[in-house]
Amino acid sequence: MLHRCSKCDSDMEEGFLLEKGDSGVLSPQAWVTGKPEKSFFSGVSIKGKQMYDVKTFRCNACGYLESYALGVQ
Ligand SMILES: [Zn+2]
Repeated sequence: MLHRCSKCDSDMEEGFLLEKGDSGVLSPQAWVTGKPEKSFFSGVSIKGKQMYDVKTFRCNACGYLESYALGVQ
């Protein structure tokens, strides 16, 4: 999939946004439906919500980020 920056029309590179957890746990970020609800156990409750893998493109020229939520996890 070839992407062009919507700001400056340069080539964009595929990647993802990384989540750095407290204990050094690394994981890709996800997009979740609705509003965040606080949970005592996990910080934020995602019970009953849909989660999508997020693919983020970065412009090689200006650094602009463009994200796509694709496929349910
Ligand atoms: Zn750009």
